[in-house]
Amino acid sequence: MSENIADLSGNTLFEFRVRQAILAAQHSTNQVGLIMIDFDHPENGPTNGQGAALEFSEKMFLRLRGALRESDTVIHMDGGRMAALLPSIGNADDVLLVVNKILSKFDKPLTLQDSKVQVPPRIGIALFPEHSTNAATLMERADSALIAAKRANKNYVLYSENQSRPKRNHLKMSELRQAIVADEIFLLYQPKIDLRTERITGLEVLARWQHPKLGIISPDEFIPVAERTGLIIPLTLWVLHEALLQHRSWKKIGIDVSVAVNLSMWNLDSQELPNQIHGLLEKLGIPADNLELEITESAIMGDPQAAMRTLRRIRDLGVKFSIDDFGTGYSSLAYLKKLPVTGMKIDKSFVQNMEQDRDNAIIVRSIVDLGHNLGLKVIAEGVETYEAKEMLTDFGCDVGQGYYFSRPIPATQATTLLTKPEGMSLQNLLSSGGVSQAAVRSLNGRNGKVAER
Ligand code: C2E
Ligand code: CA
Ligand code: CA
Repeated sequence: MSENIADLSGNTLFEFRVRQAILAAQHSTNQVGLIMIDFDHPENGPTNGQGAALEFSEKMFLRLRGALRESDTVIHMDGGRMAALLPSIGNADDVLLVVNKILSKFDKPLTLQDSKVQVPPRIGIALFPEHSTNAATLMERADSALIAAKRANKNYVLYSENQSRPKRNHLKMSELRQAIVADEIFLLYQPKIDLRTERITGLEVLARWQHPKLGIISPDEFIPVAERTGLIIPLTLWVLHEALLQHRSWKKIGIDVSVAVNLSMWNLDSQELPNQIHGLLEKLGIPADNLELEITESAIMGDPQAAMRTLRRIRDLGVKFSIDDFGTGYSSLAYLKKLPVTGMKIDKSFVQNMEQDRDNAIIVRSIVDLGHNLGLKVIAEGVETYEAKEMLTDFGCDVGQGYYFSRPIPATQATTLLTKPEGMSLQNLLSSGGVSQAAVRSLNGRNGKVAER
């Protein structure tokens, strides 16, 4: 970084500061918050004329400054907007606390040239690394969120991908085919934790696409393209092969964990899949029960008869199955009983906010009981907090998976977790820097979720 700070204009200096905050945050588990603020035109009151406009802007600036910490940077931006940089925050909730503080500062009317004016601010928020790992993009994202707040007539909006994400309908089949050949697809591993022993019982394999121009693309975007074009078949075989190779490497150093691969509906249509899986397991010398497959209810319900046949043939090899996203499909309990599955994964939408949402807690508890009554192992995904983990343990849920334990991580970092000293908790290992969660978050791409009011 060669710029001389003295030469920089306000906006550029601010971007420079954002960049520095990002660099610092990359070496910690902290996030960086970026807030853009604009004000609606006051309905009553004199803000026309240079004098009034300046006075207005200065007073607003002071109010904003007063809501923030000494270590936060606040500037006037072009077009009458203001921006605030929070260089070190714990998580999205922290930034929302700050936003509420800002809003309360602007609650009272402002005296402007002897008139009282009420000026509600509009606020857009973006976070590093969740919404971008690049300073300029992060500023654009905070701006998109600000525009979204104005459009929706909300006080504030946290950036979410669909506000400005360029539509990637143009993700092409040729590009995806090329990606598989050119090694642009890579795998992350997310631990599944036995809630009783708090040990890792297995790892779910989650695919990412490192696109040469578009950066990291999430599977939610490219799996549908793969499904539409039939590429899902070679892609799944590639994922299975990679995951089993990784499993074998772990076994060689004495780590025995199962790996879980996601299947799509189209895989179940494929008559060859059972033989292909059998061939892979034989070739690599891996016992079938070290492989687990995850399949959603809706994938099975597409063509239940055909799916059931394929599932049975794979099950007969000794491979285990879990039903994924349980609770979101049109669960047919009659089919559920017949399915050759060993596990049931409760969808994260029920788990994520079960501490606050009593209905969801009841649903989760009921699914745990249902699963157990059917003789299945119950896994909860989307465990994000200590409280959720405790509730699930109370409910007798068998396995937990989610950001509270670990995000999806590269195999090398998974090895660190898998070889952690006896007695050291995952949380200790994560917070001691053994696994860099900031780096991991950027590998996972953006997880933009809207939180607005
Ligand atoms: P899924 O199978 O339901 O995987 C769980 C998703 O939730 C993953 O998203 C994971 O990163 C995310 N997640 C895990 N813990 C938490 C948490 O605590 N909170 C929140 N908010 N999210 C959490 P990801 O990796 O983006 O994958 C999305 C979906 O793409 C997967 O959903 C799966 O259906 C599909 N997918 C991923 N890899 C493959 C693959 O190799 N083949 C197929 N067919 N589908 C795949
Ligand atoms: Ca899954
Ligand atoms: Ca899921």
